[in-house]
This record gives sequence, C-alpha cells and structure tokens, in this order.
Amino acid sequence: MIVMKFGGTSVQDASAIRRVCSIIKSRLDRNPAVVVSAMGKITDELLALAEAAAKKDRQKMLQSISAIFQRHENVIADLNIANDPELEQALEKAQNDLTTIAEKIFHAGQLTPHLSDQLVSMGEFLSANILAAYLRTQNINGAFVDARDVIVTDSQFGKALPLFAESQERAKANLEPILRQKAVPVLQGFVGMDTYGRTTTLGRGGSDYSATFIGSLLKAEEVEIWSDVDGILTADPTLVPEAKRIRFMSFQEAAELAYFGAKVLHPNTLLPAIERGIPVYVLNSTRPDDSGTLITYNGIKSRQYIVKSIAYKEDITIITVTSTRMLMAHGFLATIFDIFDRYQTPVDLVSTSEVSVSMTIDQTGKLKDICRELDRFSQVDVEHEKAIVCLVGEGMKNTPGMATRIFSVLGDVPIHLISQGASEINISFVIDQKRLKEVVTSLHNKFFSGELDPNIFAV
Ligand code: ADP
Ligand code: ASP
Ligand code: MG
Repeated sequence: MIVMKFGGTSVQDASAIRRVCSIIKSRLDRNPAVVVSAMGKITDELLALAEAAAKKDRQKMLQSISAIFQRHENVIADLNIANDPELEQALEKAQNDLTTIAEKIFHAGQLTPHLSDQLVSMGEFLSANILAAYLRTQNINGAFVDARDVIVTDSQFGKALPLFAESQERAKANLEPILRQKAVPVLQGFVGMDTYGRTTTLGRGGSDYSATFIGSLLKAEEVEIWSDVDGILTADPTLVPEAKRIRFMSFQEAAELAYFGAKVLHPNTLLPAIERGIPVYVLNSTRPDDSGTLITYNGIKSRQYIVKSIAYKEDITIITVTSTRMLMAHGFLATIFDIFDRYQTPVDLVSTSEVSVSMTIDQTGKLKDICRELDRFSQVDVEHEKAIVCLVGEGMKNTPGMATRIFSVLGDVPIHLISQGASEINISFVIDQKRLKEVVTSLHNKFFSGELDPNIFAV
C-alpha cells in the first residue's frame, strides 16, 4: 500500500479536488490511504477566528464562521455532492462544533492551546470529508477515517508528537480493515488525539508528518507528498524563482532541509520514513505526470555538485551568554542547556568561545524566563530579527574549501554564527534577516548557475 498526502493548495477549490481525485484514481491498484490538509488558507482563517473570539469580537467571530462555511459550501455545490448523507452529517457536526468551541473561547476571553487545537482541527475535518464524499461520486469507495482514531499523540497542544505503539494498535483496528476491503481511507492530516481523548495538532504544516507517520504504521511501500511545487527545489522558489528541481535526495539531506526551514516539508516529516526505510516522493498535483523528487536512504551522490539545496529560517533570535566562570570550568554548558530544556525551548545552532556561548532559538515564548535564569550567573545579550541560512548536500563532507566558497560570495554581510553540522552534510550560518534575499540569491548563483548534473537536477 501507499500513502498519498495532498496539501492545502492541492485541495483549495473544486477543480483542485477533481485533479486530486484523478491522481488517486491513477494509483488505486496500489491500495492508497489518503491524508489531506485543510483547504488553502483555512487554517489561517481558523486561527484568526480563534483570536477574534478570545478578544471578544463577536461580530468578527460570527462573520468568520460564516465565511469559512460559505467557502466549503461553495466547493460542495460545485462538486455536486451536497446530497451525500455522510457528508451532510459531517457538515452539521462541524458547524455545531465550530460554533460551540468559538463560544467557549469567547466566554473564556482567552485562547487555551487545547481549545485552539480543537478549533483549528476543523479545517482538516471538513476537507477530508469533502474529498471522501467526492471520491464516492466517482466510483471510488472513499471512506472518511477520523485521524483521531488512529494517531495517538502526547499532550503538547500545537506541537504534539505521535506515539508509535499506541497508534499502531489503533491503525490495526480502525484503518487496516478498510484497506483490506479495498476502500480508500481519507484521513485528516495535522490532527491527532492524546491519551486522554483530547484533540491535538502536530504543528503548522504537520500534515506531511501525519502522512509519513501513517506510512510507518501501515508499513507503506512509499509515501507521496503532493504539493504546489515540482518537488524539492534548490531553494525556496518564492525567494529564488529560477530554483531547479532536485531529482534525488537522501533522507539525511531532506531531513536537514526540512529542519532548517524548507517549508515544503514539515521538520519531522522524514523521521518515520527513516526509521522504516520508506521512500518519500514530493510531487506537484498540477503536474501529476512529472517525476518530482525521490527521497531514499542513499539518494544519489555526486562529487561534482556538492551543494544540493539552500534553506533558511526566519525570525531567529540569538542569545549570547558571557561569563568568566566558564573558563576552564566543566558543567557550564550543561547548566545553560538545562535551562532551555526546562522551558522546552529548542536550540538550533550553538557556537562557543572561551568565555561565551551563542545559541539560536526560534520559539521566544519563554525568552524572558530563560534570560532571567541565565542572568544569575552571566551576562546575557539578545539579538532579534536574524535568519539562519543552511546549505545542504552529502558531497560537502569530503570537499575541501567549502567554507571559503560559501563565504566568498557574502561580501560585507555580517555573519553572526557559523555551524557545520555534525553530520557534515550541512553548513549553517546566521545573518541579519534584512539581508536574506540577497544572500540566498548570491549563494544560489554561485552554486547553481553553471551546468548542473542531469542525474541529480532537472535541467
Ligand atoms: P502544502 O500546502 O502542499 O503542504 P506548503 O506551502 O506547505 O505546501 O509547501 C510548499 C511551499 O514550500 C512551496 O510553495 C514553496 O514556496 C515552499 N518551499 C520552501 N523551500 C522550498 C524548496 N526548497 N523546494 C520547494 N518548495 C519550497
Ligand atoms: N493545515 C495545516 C496548516 O496549514 C497543516 C498542513 O497544511 O499541513 O498548517
Ligand atoms: Mg505544507
């Protein structure tokens, strides 16, 4: 069997959903399970709705609920599926739930992470039900399966992590029988349920992670991530329009890229695939016959083309801790990282000197608390509006002079922190965010404007 995941743009309107249906049709002999995101922009609208409710803006809250439903109803009318009894029921439930949750937030006057997840999960509930109903009208036995009956997660609302053993039991009970009947299960991406039965979400863009996780539960032969780009490209096309498609990548390379901000894949997407050795394709739902990017254990290595892609992460904060107590002392770094750990704030890049340590973070929710604690034994400096730029490629490992080649194009751009990943397949550094486009464009020119290896890049 295979898992097929369709992102927000791939299901954004009726014609997109028709395209998705024909893509699924072309794969029926492979026994697909389908994972779907909310229709494009709906998650943002749900979050805005939650905020309006928390601010007690009733007018905006009600307008927003009705706009969200109108958009789905238009698609349902266009697809001519309004009479599907299961869909009708789902729609009614969604309308009730959405109104009830919004009212709860309104009365509380604040948004708890739990209520936020409940509300925002409605986007995927609607899109998955619509797609399943449309498949049924096209002679495909589409069956909505609630992801909450399959994916068990921990209780970190907004960034929950799926639990394998617990989920595997549920997949056996709730998903495998449907696949055995040769029906096509359609599940919400992004959404899970904790062990207390509460709705959770896996973080923005989390449907990719749902797809590979479900793939690992079902021992899928492959996972297909269908999006609005031709595959993984040499850079984000919104920053570098001439970016090229990468035909093959290794798990390691794609995982680094995803972690360092390439939005095309949620940062955790590759983890389940790596554990079970499941090949992952990234494909374009508007060009289903193209071959996309294939991510496998080995990828294809090329000595000649050492850098495969450039990723970036914005809104980065640098924290520099300086203390003479660090000189010759052991345990100092442990003390610092223990503080970040207690405030559940991941550190991305680290660089040390004799008396100071600089670290980058992208979650600043607990920054004040962290600084207060660090302040007890050191001087703390905080700098905002930074960006991490990350170059990834297996071939970088054995190539001397990489750093020189990279930094020679940066001219007068101040570099705040440099890190060569322990795996040696990435080099990352921090710059001022305002120089981001310029830096990524110059690096892209340097590494990708010449003749490219056709075995690796689509040229
Ligand atoms: P989906 O809704 O299908 O999950 P996303 O918007 O989450 O799609 O991800 C696709 C987007 O990722 C692309 O439109 C592109 O702007 C962005 N992106 C960033 N880096 C890359 C990259 N290296 N390759 C391809 N796309 C990238
Ligand atoms: N709909 C969610 C989001 O916009 C999850 C996803 O698209 O993967 O973040
Ligand atoms: Mg996405």
